[in-house]
Amino acid sequence: MTLHRIAAFSPVAGAIALAISLTGVTAPAQSPGGFKAFTGARVIDGTDRAPIDNATIVVRAGRVVSVGSNAAVPAGAERVSLAGKTVIPGLINAHGHVGNTVGLQQGHYSAENVLRDLKTYAAYGVTTVFSLGDDQEAGFKIRDAQNTPTLDHARLYVAGPVLAPKSPEEARKQVDEVAAMKADIVKIRVDDNLGTSAKMPPDIYKAVIDESHKKGMRTAVHLFYLDDAKSVLDAGADFIAHSIRDKDVDQPVIAMLKRRDVCVCPTLTREVSTFVYETTPDWFSDPLFAKYADPKTLEQLKEPARQQQMKSSKSAQRYKVALEQASRNLKKLSDSGVKIAMGTDTGPPARFQGYFELMELELMAKAGLTPKQVLTSATRDAARCQKLDQNLGTLEANKWADFVVLDADPLADIRNTRKIADVYIAGNKVAR
Ligand SMILES: [Zn+2]
Repeated sequence: MTLHRIAAFSPVAGAIALAISLTGVTAPAQSPGGFKAFTGARVIDGTDRAPIDNATIVVRAGRVVSVGSNAAVPAGAERVSLAGKTVIPGLINAHGHVGNTVGLQQGHYSAENVLRDLKTYAAYGVTTVFSLGDDQEAGFKIRDAQNTPTLDHARLYVAGPVLAPKSPEEARKQVDEVAAMKADIVKIRVDDNLGTSAKMPPDIYKAVIDESHKKGMRTAVHLFYLDDAKSVLDAGADFIAHSIRDKDVDQPVIAMLKRRDVCVCPTLTREVSTFVYETTPDWFSDPLFAKYADPKTLEQLKEPARQQQMKSSKSAQRYKVALEQASRNLKKLSDSGVKIAMGTDTGPPARFQGYFELMELELMAKAGLTPKQVLTSATRDAARCQKLDQNLGTLEANKWADFVVLDADPLADIRNTRKIADVYIAGNKVAR
């Protein structure tokens, strides 16, 4: 039993009120009320602790007060029975995008579209999305307004524009601008898109990374090739935003990743999206998918001419091979102790937010990770990798009460993450 928990049940509520106010939540300091108690579930709290049966989660002002088995419920608490259910921390997508896409078109950024996307993510249990680029002012404002106990959509963190400077001087200037916007990370691409475009040269990405560090920021790098991974890690890259997809990862790159605890974000479903529409995917008829997918977009993706175009696309076939390579590398990196941050690169056209995260979990399990490893990478480790773990990623005292209520245990089968009964953000049930 933590000190916190004792304080919560003390007749003198001052200690808990003080503790909550220290974490930045505005709670009525005088009132001992406002508790919610979620009772009876099996809770997988996201830590290394074994699942807790018949657990009680006490929440106040949007944050977890305590999680324990057969725990007493504070007097006057609003009770929610979760008997027979399994609770996991809300999923964290460490690489998504929001607000830009309408149907199969990009370039429609608006607050309305950002909120629409954040509600879609939430409906699938993805309670936090770390956007790695193309974020505009409306997204920054939504991020800045989300630290409230009344939140009803997924949390958002933003990178601002993806930087593509043409010189080291311009690189430093652009990083300074992103820092001034108060972005959560700096994002660049080091890729030639299968040999079809120019790759950012080393002197430029070195300047980006160096300037980011001077501004106290981290740099996330989109890449494809093993050699580039080594080079950007050598330059100080802080987050690898996609799988290495050209070769097997080797001991040198594993050592470089581990030395600075740099995380890798596999984005396996990004690869899937590049070739899967050569036919009509089985999951188009899954009610869980269809509920939030735009019917017009699905009709377009079913058009024979479009499917034929994808079937005969060289890059589609190349990325199909890349998915196999990425899956092998995921297993090897995980076995080697490299931290994996679940992420999908959803948000661009035909990369369906929410549903693809659940597919990603399944693909990670297919790659050879255990359900426990997959869940950890999608909760605690994704939070740690994106420096959100002070407030998110596990169900522990003082963290936001973001969690998913499942009808079956995902440790038995990761696909049970699809059996969503309810989703809670800051202790509020999300409409879905
Ligand atoms: Zn991306």
